[in-house]
Amino acid sequence: MITRRVALIGLTAKAERRIGGGFVFESQNTGHAIRDRAVKGGNAIEKVPVVIVGGGIGGLSASWWLKRNRFHDFVLLEMEREPGGNSRSGRNEISAYPWAAHYVPVPNRESTLVRDLFTELGLLQDGEWDERWLCHSPQERLYIHGRWQDAIEPEVGLTAEDHRQFKEFAARVAEFRASGQFTIPATPKPSPLDQINFKDWLAQQKLTSPYLHWLADYSTRDDFGAASHETSAWAGIHYFAAREHEEKGPLTWPEGNGWIASRLAAKVKDHIRTESPVFRIEKSGTKWRVHTPKTIYEAGVVIYAAPAFLLPHLDPSVPKPQGLDWSPWLVANLTLDRIPAERHGEAAWDNVIYGSPSLGYVVATHQDVRARIDKTVWTYYYALSGRAPSEARKDLLSTDWNTWKERILTDLERPHKDIRQCVSHIDMFRIGHAMIRPTPGFLTNPHRLAWIKGRERFFVATADLSGFSIFEEAQYRGVEAARRALLLL
Ligand SMILES: Cc1cc2nc3c(=O)[nH]c(=O)nc-3n(C[C@H](O)[C@H](O)[C@H](O)COP(=O)(O)OP(=O)(O)OC[C@H]3O[C@@H](n4cnc5c(N)ncnc54)[C@H](O)[C@@H]3O)c2cc1C
Repeated sequence: MITRRVALIGLTAKAERRIGGGFVFESQNTGHAIRDRAVKGGNAIEKVPVVIVGGGIGGLSASWWLKRNRFHDFVLLEMEREPGGNSRSGRNEISAYPWAAHYVPVPNRESTLVRDLFTELGLLQDGEWDERWLCHSPQERLYIHGRWQDAIEPEVGLTAEDHRQFKEFAARVAEFRASGQFTIPATPKPSPLDQINFKDWLAQQKLTSPYLHWLADYSTRDDFGAASHETSAWAGIHYFAAREHEEKGPLTWPEGNGWIASRLAAKVKDHIRTESPVFRIEKSGTKWRVHTPKTIYEAGVVIYAAPAFLLPHLDPSVPKPQGLDWSPWLVANLTLDRIPAERHGEAAWDNVIYGSPSLGYVVATHQDVRARIDKTVWTYYYALSGRAPSEARKDLLSTDWNTWKERILTDLERPHKDIRQCVSHIDMFRIGHAMIRPTPGFLTNPHRLAWIKGRERFFVATADLSGFSIFEEAQYRGVEAARRALLLL
């Protein structure tokens, strides 16, 4: 009897190790107060030639460009306590870690803006990339049919026909790449590929391999937070065709793209006003009035670098966008005070699970050159795709931390049986409108075209315009807006 009780306590203690943590940032309340017009404003008036709204990569890049061109009369208003947006990072006693964006592919010779910035930040010197931040190997692996394989493209369990279809798909991608239509930054023309979803397009090409369809779906969930049937074929093909295969890279840091965001922010720190949520923007004669809880900024030019879905709530004269939507995401940082036992190989930087609803996890200590690492942080990514974003958003926000914890650990338990004994803490970031979805019809959507055109002395500068929420697009849109502002000024 006694023996049985002890055994039960032992079992409970092992199975139910206490895991701490909670939700971080949680700015939904501010967002909802802005939407419901419930924010009260201050009376102080400050006149400034240029106001930048939003301090993600778009807003920071606009600021970088203005300063680089010796223009200093601007302020950047950021809602949160720190700038960076989806490129923010955190740190604990073990490592720094990303809160969303975690890498940038090595830019090719045509990506002059990215190369200019990376040269300024010391990443690129005399044509050589700083080795510390080129992703070490092993870079990626896939857990499939009960074992890990190198690389994310499935190799285990494929039939000869599956292999043939992968080859055919690669050949089609090579043709698309050679056509020169798929570039970064993207400046696309209307295309029939934008009228059909990626899954249907694959079927039209008689590409039916379930492994190929899994890869297509994984890729669109990874880059757009949307399933392959929710993504245009144009965007799905762009994911594969826009980049050359690179021997080196990608560039990554323990804190992910927070490494870039914090350096950009440091360059323009005197201009940044944090905890300044903009809740209204209105035209007043030839000026724009930008309202925050403390101050009304009277500006000659506005560079709008906050998410585009918010714009009609700030300025009711802007129509609510129809036919556009934003993907909800959950990002979790798991602290592991023990490394899971591995039966097959060692952890890669990016670790993906075949058939999982998640995108897997990235290891924050991967670039650490110490011979032995016995504690680490994993950043786990989960895009809530495959159903209406509004419904998925409700699930994201109404699901409590414990239930999310269970979803995450159950998913990770497939490859790592002992995960519950290794994790001591899980913090989670719920991002209701994390990134725009390039759904069919995106390229010709009239709201998107109106944002690109801009308004009088008002320029939009976010990756939302491109449909691809990636560093290069956010930087390009930020710099474009700043260039247009400088032409006026
Ligand atoms: C889970 C996830 C993973 C990602 N991984 C990668 C990756 O590995 N590599 C990559 O290149 N890209 C990645 N991205 C894409 C990332 O979104 C872009 O790289 C880039 O950071 C987007 O910048 P942005 O300026 O367009 O938008 P955001 O980062 O959304 O910036 C908008 C800013 O506006 C602020 N703001 C909002 N409302 C207001 C208001 N009312 N007043 C004032 N300020 C306001 C926000 O706080 C925020 O700082 C990822 C995105 C997500 C969600």
